[in-house]
Amino acid sequence: MSANPNNPDRPFPLERTRNIGIAAHIDAGKTTLTERILFYTGMIHKIGEVHDGAATTDWMEQERERGITITSAAVTTEWWQRKEEDIFKSFEDEKQRINIIDTPGHVDFTAEVERSLRVLDGAIVVFCGVAGVQPQTETVWRQATKYNVPRLVFVNKMDRVGADFDRVYDEIKEKLGANAVRILIPIGSEEDLRGQIDVVNQKAVHFVDDATFGSTYEVKDLSDEQKEEAEFAYQELLETVAGVDDELAEKFLMEEPISREDVKKAIRRATIANKLIPVAGGSAFKNKGVQCLLDAVIDYLPSPIDIDSAVGMNPDDETEQIEVPTDDNAKFCALAFKLWADKFVGKLVFFRVYSGVVRKGDTIYNPRTRQKERVGRLIRIQSDQHTDIDACYAGDIAAMVGLKVVQTGDTLAATGYDVVLEPPTFPEPVISMA
Ligand code: GDP
Repeated sequence: MSANPNNPDRPFPLERTRNIGIAAHIDAGKTTLTERILFYTGMIHKIGEVHDGAATTDWMEQERERGITITSAAVTTEWWQRKEEDIFKSFEDEKQRINIIDTPGHVDFTAEVERSLRVLDGAIVVFCGVAGVQPQTETVWRQATKYNVPRLVFVNKMDRVGADFDRVYDEIKEKLGANAVRILIPIGSEEDLRGQIDVVNQKAVHFVDDATFGSTYEVKDLSDEQKEEAEFAYQELLETVAGVDDELAEKFLMEEPISREDVKKAIRRATIANKLIPVAGGSAFKNKGVQCLLDAVIDYLPSPIDIDSAVGMNPDDETEQIEVPTDDNAKFCALAFKLWADKFVGKLVFFRVYSGVVRKGDTIYNPRTRQKERVGRLIRIQSDQHTDIDACYAGDIAAMVGLKVVQTGDTLAATGYDVVLEPPTFPEPVISMA
């Protein structure tokens, strides 16, 4: 682990950044979920700016006309995590940045899958509440396990006929061998899907249709029947988490008081250490279901400073390892993970910065080609716009314009910094972007 330097120029704290992928079997709802995340976060964003519910409707209409950018290799969105129970009361300085990286759904092991797993720090794995755990997802799951990617599971489509949360939860444990805990349990199912039980907070979150917001929610106390279910799930969660987290185990054994915050922190530690899989059931069609999932992403998946620094190698001597610290003050080193032809901007190179900072106009170096190139523009892709940015800092993801010769998997570094993040043996054609 490496500490985030105290860099006063850095506009956004790294601990509030999440680089995540969304993985799913075809048809489980990956596209819908991504779209809804962008839609709801964009909506919240606009509400946050104007503090006026009426403006939201206009924005929703505009958005519908324009279509949402979900087909990009990486898209950045912002989320204000609720402080209390009510998101609409919590617009303090708690902005979070979530970079959603497209993960290819290939069945076979490929360099591309490995690369996408490498640039993200955590993932949401979507299952269909009807179909459950399917073979293709088992393959992706094993790859994510091999690369130690912390995960949350979203059991989607709980509103569909035949959806069964308990069955899918059992499959996650049995077929995937996951040490799973339920954090959000659907209330009702099929057309009677009414909300979710928030297990950690022991509250019922009810979905409510709303003319202005499409759908919103109400937080209620649990009914007697729900109380029993929630209490059982909470005890099961405590025991499972205590089984893999020493700090919580200690409190549990000593019979010390355990706060909700203690439990959340323990879930976070265990999830990041890849010893636990939090599971949420819901529907991508329900606003609140998606919001609770975003809160779980912030609460339980790692920021770039929660994970180990990347290790590169000397291109002339692969036995020489070079640590690439997550530090703005270190030499610039990034991985080009995707080339993309964008209809507005032209040829884009998506990259993740592992160390240092890259600025617009910088000359950078490609240790594979041994050539220097100039960064023409730096761009952040958001749900509703492309934004030119001046710099991209350690741990963050953006796209650059202006590189001529580059291929996916190339390391981009400070001039003269001979380091490669991927062994240069991947069987991929050289794509000239000249
Ligand atoms: P992908 O192949 O994983 O990207 O799946 P899509 O997002 O394209 O979804 C496949 C189908 O399932 C589409 O017809 C969606 O409208 C539908 N779908 C997605 N999420 C839900 C959900 O929560 N409930 C229901 N009933 N349908 C859903």
